[in-house]
Amino acid sequence: AKKGGRNRYCLFSHQLNEELRYLHELEQNLRAAVKEKSFELHYQPQYSLHTLKLVGAEALIRWPLENRQIPPDEFIPLAEKFGLINEIGEFVFETAIKQLSSWNDCPTPLPRMAINASSIQLLAGNFGAFVEGLLSRNKLSADRVDIEVTESVMMKNIEKNDSPDSTCLSLLQEKGLEISIDDFGTGYSSLSYIKHLNIDRIKIDKSFIDDLEFHREARSIVKAIIKMGHSLGLKVLAEGIETPNQLDILKQLDCDEGQGFLFSKPINAEKFRIKCLS
Ligand code: C2E
Ligand code: CA
Ligand code: CA
Repeated sequence: AKKGGRNRYCLFSHQLNEELRYLHELEQNLRAAVKEKSFELHYQPQYSLHTLKLVGAEALIRWPLENRQIPPDEFIPLAEKFGLINEIGEFVFETAIKQLSSWNDCPTPLPRMAINASSIQLLAGNFGAFVEGLLSRNKLSADRVDIEVTESVMMKNIEKNDSPDSTCLSLLQEKGLEISIDDFGTGYSSLSYIKHLNIDRIKIDKSFIDDLEFHREARSIVKAIIKMGHSLGLKVLAEGIETPNQLDILKQLDCDEGQGFLFSKPINAEKFRIKCLS
Protein backbone atom coordinates (compact mmCIF):
# COMPACT_ATOMS: atom_id res chain seq x y z
CA ALA A 1 0.00 0.00 0.00
CA LYS A 2 2.86 2.26 0.90
CA LYS A 3 4.55 1.61 -2.40
CA GLY A 4 1.33 2.22 -4.31
CA GLY A 5 1.01 5.49 -2.49
CA ARG A 6 4.45 6.57 -3.46
CA ASN A 7 3.83 5.61 -7.09
CA ARG A 8 0.68 7.64 -7.12
CA TYR A 9 2.68 10.49 -5.72
CA CYS A 10 5.29 10.07 -8.43
CA LEU A 11 2.65 10.05 -11.11
CA PHE A 12 1.04 13.15 -9.67
CA SER A 13 4.38 14.87 -9.37
CA HIS A 14 5.20 13.95 -12.96
CA GLN A 15 1.97 15.47 -14.23
CA LEU A 16 2.54 18.53 -12.10
CA ASN A 17 5.96 18.86 -13.63
CA GLU A 18 4.56 18.70 -17.13
CA GLU A 19 1.96 21.27 -16.25
CA LEU A 20 4.55 23.58 -14.72
CA ARG A 21 6.81 23.16 -17.72
CA TYR A 22 3.94 24.07 -20.05
CA LEU A 23 3.03 27.11 -17.97
CA HIS A 24 6.62 28.24 -17.79
CA GLU A 25 6.99 27.93 -21.55
CA LEU A 26 3.74 29.82 -22.08
CA GLU A 27 4.98 32.56 -19.77
CA GLN A 28 8.23 32.92 -21.73
CA ASN A 29 6.30 33.02 -25.00
CA LEU A 30 3.84 35.54 -23.59
CA ARG A 31 6.65 37.83 -22.39
CA ALA A 32 8.21 37.68 -25.84
CA ALA A 33 4.85 38.35 -27.50
CA VAL A 34 4.31 41.41 -25.31
CA LYS A 35 7.76 42.73 -26.20
CA GLU A 36 7.27 42.15 -29.91
CA LYS A 37 3.60 43.14 -29.85
CA SER A 38 2.76 40.00 -31.78
CA PHE A 39 -0.95 40.20 -31.01
CA GLU A 40 -3.71 41.05 -33.41
CA LEU A 41 -7.21 42.38 -32.95
CA HIS A 42 -10.27 40.92 -34.58
CA TYR A 43 -13.55 42.78 -34.73
CA GLN A 44 -17.09 41.47 -34.34
CA PRO A 45 -19.93 43.69 -35.61
CA GLN A 46 -22.81 44.73 -33.35
CA TYR A 47 -26.21 45.56 -34.82
CA SER A 48 -29.38 47.36 -33.84
CA LEU A 49 -32.07 44.69 -33.62
CA HIS A 50 -34.69 47.27 -34.58
CA THR A 51 -33.09 48.48 -37.81
CA LEU A 52 -30.40 45.80 -38.35
CA LYS A 53 -27.96 48.65 -38.94
CA LEU A 54 -24.35 48.46 -37.75
CA VAL A 55 -23.98 50.22 -34.38
CA GLY A 56 -20.50 49.14 -33.34
CA ALA A 57 -17.84 46.47 -33.11
CA GLU A 58 -16.19 44.60 -30.27
CA ALA A 59 -12.40 44.35 -30.42
CA LEU A 60 -11.14 40.88 -29.44
CA ILE A 61 -7.48 40.04 -29.00
CA ARG A 62 -5.81 37.19 -30.89
CA TRP A 63 -2.44 35.61 -30.15
CA PRO A 64 -1.00 33.56 -33.01
CA LEU A 65 1.75 31.28 -31.68
CA GLU A 66 3.53 28.87 -33.99
CA ASN A 67 0.72 27.24 -35.98
CA ARG A 68 -2.08 27.86 -33.56
CA GLN A 69 -4.06 30.56 -31.84
CA ILE A 70 -3.97 30.67 -28.05
CA PRO A 71 -7.49 31.62 -26.95
CA PRO A 72 -7.76 34.82 -24.87
CA ASP A 73 -9.66 32.90 -22.18
CA GLU A 74 -6.38 31.03 -21.65
CA PHE A 75 -3.74 33.76 -21.81
CA ILE A 76 -5.53 36.83 -20.39
CA PRO A 77 -5.69 35.29 -16.87
CA LEU A 78 -2.00 34.34 -17.19
CA ALA A 79 -1.12 37.84 -18.34
CA GLU A 80 -2.87 39.16 -15.25
CA LYS A 81 -0.91 36.79 -13.04
CA PHE A 82 2.45 37.61 -14.62
CA GLY A 83 1.91 41.36 -14.48
CA LEU A 84 1.69 41.69 -18.26
CA ILE A 85 -1.94 42.73 -18.58
CA ASN A 86 -1.36 46.48 -18.47
CA GLU A 87 0.97 46.35 -21.45
CA ILE A 88 -1.41 44.08 -23.35
CA GLY A 89 -4.33 46.32 -22.45
CA GLU A 90 -2.46 49.37 -23.71
CA PHE A 91 -1.77 47.59 -26.98
CA VAL A 92 -5.46 46.70 -27.30
CA PHE A 93 -6.75 50.20 -26.56
CA GLU A 94 -4.17 51.86 -28.77
CA THR A 95 -4.76 49.51 -31.72
CA ALA A 96 -8.56 49.59 -31.48
CA ILE A 97 -8.78 53.38 -31.15
CA LYS A 98 -6.34 53.98 -34.03
CA GLN A 99 -8.35 51.54 -36.13
CA LEU A 100 -11.61 53.32 -35.34
CA SER A 101 -10.07 56.62 -36.34
CA SER A 102 -8.61 55.27 -39.59
CA TRP A 103 -12.03 53.88 -40.55
CA ASN A 104 -13.53 57.39 -40.38
CA ASP A 105 -12.84 57.75 -44.11
CA CYS A 106 -14.91 54.69 -45.06
CA PRO A 107 -18.27 55.06 -46.85
CA THR A 108 -20.01 53.97 -43.63
CA PRO A 109 -17.66 54.66 -40.70
CA LEU A 110 -17.90 52.54 -37.60
CA PRO A 111 -20.13 54.33 -35.06
CA ARG A 112 -18.57 52.86 -31.92
CA MET A 113 -15.72 50.60 -30.79
CA ALA A 114 -16.26 48.35 -27.76
CA ILE A 115 -13.06 47.41 -25.91
CA ASN A 116 -12.68 44.88 -23.08
CA ALA A 117 -10.91 46.08 -19.97
CA SER A 118 -9.56 43.92 -17.16
CA SER A 119 -9.88 44.97 -13.52
CA ILE A 120 -6.13 45.35 -13.08
CA GLN A 121 -6.07 47.80 -15.95
CA LEU A 122 -8.80 49.93 -14.44
CA LEU A 123 -7.06 50.02 -11.09
CA ALA A 124 -3.80 51.26 -12.62
CA GLY A 125 -3.70 54.93 -11.70
CA ASN A 126 -3.03 56.32 -15.16
CA PHE A 127 -5.64 54.43 -17.15
CA GLY A 128 -8.09 57.33 -17.44
CA ALA A 129 -5.44 59.76 -18.63
CA PHE A 130 -4.08 57.15 -21.03
CA VAL A 131 -7.45 56.66 -22.75
CA GLU A 132 -8.09 60.40 -22.85
CA GLY A 133 -4.72 60.93 -24.50
CA LEU A 134 -5.47 58.28 -27.11
CA LEU A 135 -8.80 59.88 -27.95
CA SER A 136 -7.38 63.35 -28.37
CA ARG A 137 -4.37 62.17 -30.40
CA ASN A 138 -6.73 60.33 -32.73
CA LYS A 139 -9.23 63.20 -32.80
CA LEU A 140 -12.14 61.05 -31.67
CA SER A 141 -15.01 62.10 -29.48
CA ALA A 142 -15.30 60.05 -26.30
CA ASP A 143 -18.77 58.71 -27.12
CA ARG A 144 -17.27 56.62 -29.93
CA VAL A 145 -15.70 54.28 -27.38
CA ASP A 146 -17.45 51.77 -25.17
CA ILE A 147 -15.56 50.06 -22.34
CA GLU A 148 -16.73 46.54 -21.51
CA VAL A 149 -16.24 45.45 -17.91
CA THR A 150 -17.58 42.44 -16.07
CA GLU A 151 -19.73 42.66 -12.96
CA SER A 152 -16.87 41.56 -10.71
CA VAL A 153 -14.63 44.26 -12.18
CA MET A 154 -17.35 46.77 -11.48
CA MET A 155 -17.53 45.66 -7.85
CA LYS A 156 -13.75 45.77 -7.37
CA ASN A 157 -13.67 49.22 -8.89
CA ILE A 158 -16.22 50.40 -6.36
CA GLU A 159 -14.66 48.63 -3.36
CA LYS A 160 -11.20 50.04 -4.04
CA ASN A 161 -12.52 53.58 -3.86
CA ASP A 162 -14.37 55.01 -0.89
CA SER A 163 -16.97 56.62 -3.02
CA PRO A 164 -18.19 55.13 -6.27
CA ASP A 165 -18.10 58.62 -7.76
CA SER A 166 -14.33 58.72 -7.60
CA THR A 167 -13.69 55.54 -9.59
CA CYS A 168 -11.67 55.51 -12.73
CA LEU A 169 -14.76 54.27 -14.55
CA SER A 170 -16.95 57.14 -13.50
CA LEU A 171 -14.20 59.59 -14.42
CA LEU A 172 -14.09 58.10 -17.89
CA GLN A 173 -17.80 58.21 -18.11
CA GLU A 174 -17.84 61.88 -17.16
CA LYS A 175 -15.62 62.39 -20.19
CA GLY A 176 -18.38 60.84 -22.29
CA LEU A 177 -17.19 57.26 -22.81
CA GLU A 178 -19.82 54.55 -22.69
CA ILE A 179 -19.64 51.74 -20.15
CA SER A 180 -21.15 48.30 -20.76
CA ILE A 181 -21.45 45.43 -18.31
CA ASP A 182 -20.17 42.26 -19.95
CA ASP A 183 -21.46 38.72 -19.28
CA PHE A 184 -24.44 40.17 -17.45
CA GLY A 185 -26.27 37.65 -15.29
CA THR A 186 -23.32 35.39 -14.50
CA GLY A 187 -21.49 37.38 -11.83
CA TYR A 188 -22.39 39.16 -8.64
CA SER A 189 -26.05 39.12 -7.79
CA SER A 190 -25.78 42.58 -6.27
CA LEU A 191 -27.17 45.12 -8.65
CA SER A 192 -26.37 48.06 -6.41
CA TYR A 193 -23.52 49.17 -8.64
CA ILE A 194 -25.98 49.90 -11.40
CA LYS A 195 -27.47 52.76 -9.49
CA HIS A 196 -24.07 53.98 -8.26
CA LEU A 197 -22.48 54.11 -11.65
CA ASN A 198 -24.03 55.57 -14.71
CA ILE A 199 -23.84 52.51 -16.88
CA ASP A 200 -24.95 52.78 -20.49
CA ARG A 201 -25.52 49.20 -21.53
CA ILE A 202 -25.81 45.63 -20.31
CA LYS A 203 -24.66 42.71 -22.42
CA ILE A 204 -26.72 39.61 -21.69
CA ASP A 205 -24.40 36.62 -21.38
CA LYS A 206 -24.34 34.10 -24.20
CA SER A 207 -25.41 31.25 -21.90
CA PHE A 208 -28.91 32.77 -21.64
CA ILE A 209 -29.12 33.27 -25.40
CA ASP A 210 -28.08 29.63 -25.96
CA ASP A 211 -31.07 28.41 -23.94
CA LEU A 212 -33.55 30.93 -25.32
CA GLU A 213 -35.18 28.66 -27.88
CA PHE A 214 -35.64 25.63 -25.70
CA HIS A 215 -35.98 26.76 -22.12
CA ARG A 216 -38.90 28.75 -20.85
CA GLU A 217 -36.82 29.88 -17.85
CA ALA A 218 -34.09 31.40 -20.00
CA ARG A 219 -36.74 33.30 -21.90
CA SER A 220 -38.23 34.64 -18.66
CA ILE A 221 -34.81 35.71 -17.40
CA VAL A 222 -33.92 37.46 -20.64
CA LYS A 223 -37.29 39.16 -20.69
CA ALA A 224 -36.77 40.37 -17.11
CA ILE A 225 -33.24 41.62 -17.80
CA ILE A 226 -34.46 43.62 -20.80
CA LYS A 227 -37.36 45.10 -18.80
CA MET A 228 -35.10 46.00 -15.89
CA GLY A 229 -32.48 47.48 -18.21
CA HIS A 230 -35.04 49.63 -19.98
CA SER A 231 -36.64 50.84 -16.77
CA LEU A 232 -33.18 51.98 -15.66
CA GLY A 233 -32.67 53.74 -18.97
CA LEU A 234 -30.03 51.30 -20.23
CA LYS A 235 -29.50 49.77 -23.64
CA VAL A 236 -29.57 45.98 -23.71
CA LEU A 237 -27.33 43.98 -26.06
CA ALA A 238 -27.54 40.19 -26.52
CA GLU A 239 -24.28 38.38 -27.21
CA GLY A 240 -23.76 35.03 -28.90
CA ILE A 241 -26.77 35.12 -31.24
CA GLU A 242 -26.35 32.07 -33.50
CA THR A 243 -29.77 31.31 -34.99
CA PRO A 244 -32.55 33.26 -36.76
CA ASN A 245 -34.93 31.89 -34.15
CA GLN A 246 -32.95 33.43 -31.30
CA LEU A 247 -32.91 36.72 -33.19
CA ASP A 248 -36.71 36.61 -33.62
CA ILE A 249 -37.29 35.97 -29.93
CA LEU A 250 -34.92 38.79 -28.94
CA LYS A 251 -36.70 41.18 -31.30
CA GLN A 252 -40.04 40.19 -29.78
CA LEU A 253 -38.63 40.85 -26.32
CA ASP A 254 -37.57 44.34 -27.48
CA CYS A 255 -33.83 43.75 -27.07
CA ASP A 256 -31.98 46.76 -28.53
CA GLU A 257 -28.75 45.38 -29.95
CA GLY A 258 -27.00 42.10 -30.71
CA GLN A 259 -23.88 40.37 -31.92
CA GLY A 260 -23.04 36.76 -32.70
CA PHE A 261 -22.06 34.22 -35.33
CA LEU A 262 -25.46 34.64 -37.04
CA PHE A 263 -24.26 38.07 -38.16
CA SER A 264 -20.51 37.46 -38.23
CA LYS A 265 -17.64 35.85 -36.38
CA PRO A 266 -14.87 38.20 -35.23
CA ILE A 267 -12.75 38.98 -38.32
CA ASN A 268 -9.53 40.89 -38.99
CA ALA A 269 -9.51 44.60 -39.77
CA GLU A 270 -9.23 44.23 -43.54
CA LYS A 271 -12.13 41.78 -43.77
CA PHE A 272 -14.19 43.91 -41.39
CA ARG A 273 -13.72 46.99 -43.56
CA ILE A 274 -14.83 45.16 -46.69
CA LYS A 275 -17.73 43.34 -45.06
CA CYS A 276 -19.13 46.04 -42.80
CA LEU A 277 -17.88 49.50 -43.75
CA SER A 278 -17.97 49.69 -47.56
P1 C2E B 1 -16.19 38.16 -24.10
O1 C2E B 1 -15.79 39.57 -23.83
O2 C2E B 1 -17.46 37.69 -23.50
O3 C2E B 1 -16.21 38.03 -25.69
C1 C2E B 1 -17.15 37.30 -26.41
C2 C2E B 1 -16.59 35.95 -26.85
O4 C2E B 1 -17.62 35.18 -27.46
C3 C2E B 1 -15.50 36.06 -27.90
O5 C2E B 1 -14.59 35.00 -27.66
C4 C2E B 1 -16.26 35.86 -29.21
O6 C2E B 1 -15.45 35.39 -30.26
C5 C2E B 1 -17.26 34.83 -28.77
N1 C2E B 1 -18.50 34.85 -29.57
C6 C2E B 1 -19.12 35.93 -30.13
N2 C2E B 1 -20.26 35.55 -30.76
C7 C2E B 1 -20.37 34.22 -30.58
C8 C2E B 1 -21.35 33.23 -31.01
O7 C2E B 1 -22.35 33.54 -31.66
N3 C2E B 1 -21.10 31.95 -30.64
C9 C2E B 1 -20.00 31.57 -29.92
N4 C2E B 1 -19.84 30.28 -29.62
N5 C2E B 1 -19.08 32.47 -29.50
C10 C2E B 1 -19.26 33.78 -29.83
P2 C2E B 1 -13.02 35.24 -27.63
O8 C2E B 1 -12.61 36.22 -28.69
O9 C2E B 1 -12.36 33.90 -27.63
O10 C2E B 1 -12.76 35.96 -26.23
C11 C2E B 1 -12.98 35.28 -25.02
C12 C2E B 1 -12.83 36.21 -23.85
O11 C2E B 1 -11.50 36.68 -23.70
C13 C2E B 1 -13.69 37.45 -23.96
O12 C2E B 1 -15.03 37.15 -23.62
C14 C2E B 1 -12.99 38.37 -22.97
O13 C2E B 1 -13.37 38.07 -21.65
C15 C2E B 1 -11.53 37.98 -23.15
N6 C2E B 1 -10.91 38.95 -24.09
C16 C2E B 1 -10.87 38.95 -25.43
N7 C2E B 1 -10.19 40.00 -25.92
C17 C2E B 1 -9.80 40.72 -24.84
C18 C2E B 1 -9.06 41.94 -24.66
O14 C2E B 1 -8.65 42.63 -25.63
N8 C2E B 1 -8.85 42.37 -23.36
C19 C2E B 1 -9.31 41.67 -22.29
N9 C2E B 1 -9.06 42.16 -21.06
N10 C2E B 1 -10.02 40.53 -22.41
C20 C2E B 1 -10.26 40.05 -23.66
CA1 CA C 1 -16.69 41.50 -24.08
CA1 CA D 1 -19.30 38.63 -22.90
